[in-house]
Amino acid sequence: MEMYETLGKVGEGSYGTVMKCKHKNTGQIVAIKIFYEKPEKSVNKIALREIKFLKQFRHENLVNLIEVFRQKKKIHLVFEFIDHTVLDELQHYCHGLESRRLRKYLFQILRAVDYLHSNNIIHRDIKPENILVSQSGITKLCDFGFARTLAAPGDVYTDYVATRWYRAPELVLKDTSYGKPVDIWALGCMIIEMATGNPFLPSSSDLDLLHKIVSKVGNLTPHLQNIFSKNPIFTGVVLPQVQHTRNARKKYPKLNGLLADIVHACLQIDPAERMSSPELLHHEYFTRDGFIEKFIPELRAKLLQEARVNSFIRPKTYCKENEFKDDERKIVYNNTLLSSSFWGKEMEKEKKPKEIKVRVIKVKGGKGDISELKKTEYEVEHCRQDGMEDAHAVSEDTRPASSEPASPVNSSTDSSGMKEDAQSGGYMTMPPINPACGNLMTANLNSNLSHPNPRWRTQADSDRVPHCRPGGSPV
Ligand code: ADP
Repeated sequence: MEMYETLGKVGEGSYGTVMKCKHKNTGQIVAIKIFYEKPEKSVNKIALREIKFLKQFRHENLVNLIEVFRQKKKIHLVFEFIDHTVLDELQHYCHGLESRRLRKYLFQILRAVDYLHSNNIIHRDIKPENILVSQSGITKLCDFGFARTLAAPGDVYTDYVATRWYRAPELVLKDTSYGKPVDIWALGCMIIEMATGNPFLPSSSDLDLLHKIVSKVGNLTPHLQNIFSKNPIFTGVVLPQVQHTRNARKKYPKLNGLLADIVHACLQIDPAERMSSPELLHHEYFTRDGFIEKFIPELRAKLLQEARVNSFIRPKTYCKENEFKDDERKIVYNNTLLSSSFWGKEMEKEKKPKEIKVRVIKVKGGKGDISELKKTEYEVEHCRQDGMEDAHAVSEDTRPASSEPASPVNSSTDSSGMKEDAQSGGYMTMPPINPACGNLMTANLNSNLSHPNPRWRTQADSDRVPHCRPGGSPV
């Protein structure tokens, strides 16, 4: 942490605090997630899971991990700093986001989800506070503490605690065979919240949530009803049988027609009936009036603009020789606007990596040994962010606290398994150009610094307080 100047707190969850910081040498603004030092192993597990995923999976719509280090037994994750979250916007726009903005955000969120799902990863904690939004409107999914690889048939997921309001019925009922559709359900709940400003299923207990699901969405399938009946927690409880219209637009009258359709496609009680992420990306809500054709170039331009100043797109020149030695550790970076023709014709034009000018400051030794490269080739298959061999490198959090400077987990490994970095501070780029923040950012920062976020996930409960009208209103 000696390399960073702390600017303030931007977030706090049940597992750690997120601080806005500035790199003392480069001036780069970053977000450092400092995991609590808790006796429970779960914190380490959550941190290691997050590191593991973020190191392996890279996408323009996922937050970028810059480096990892441990100091005084606490694991620190250094991310690119992203301006605010969707939740911040919802607190500002109490009646929901304007429809054009909403569509742009949803498209990008779905790209992130689709990327994860195509790599057999489920995020398991999709919610407004986990969607970061840059000043230019690029959304990035964050918080991979609950992400995991899809279980093989017969495997059972260990229990986990995610935010209740976005939990799919199969999760609430602890059906052990859930999968990608849990993210689609959460997405459906979040779309309603983003469109109306009110959380769709705010609930204070699992039973409360189930009751709301049945009343607002649909009756349990026979399979889920069976699990419910066998669960001793629900002994003697009978859920109401509700007649629901099959017409999406009648069911969600406050949503614009196509948005109601897309929500309906996400919020199916039977996970098998929920639309998949590729299907959602090709939903008429996105394809109508040439939205994708118009938005892709806009998004690409913004991404390239941000790439010029962000460190995550690091020129190949900086790769250490053996960084790609182990194929398994290659960063999975596909389906991206900058690297594939996934989006058809539009992308064909951009198939070849472009040569763009990236001004990169290379910091050696963290002490001002700076060399500058003025022109580099833009690489679509990026270098790995750091050289951490595997997540276990920081897993043994058993050493006594030390007052030694932090060791970025970057290159060589010391005897305790911690990486020590010859180039303290890792590779950093110039800081993003941050134009004067608008009201939103000012409001956001003030609120974050002055009082705690009422929507923190708590291990015991994971409830949140509605941010506009208590209890929300029917959609
Ligand atoms: P936790 O797992 O403890 O909930 P998160 O990763 O969800 O931590 O981050 C908590 C909050 O910190 C987010 O909701 C957001 O407000 C802020 N935050 C997280 N990452 C960043 C980032 N890269 N840039 C700016 N703010 C961030």
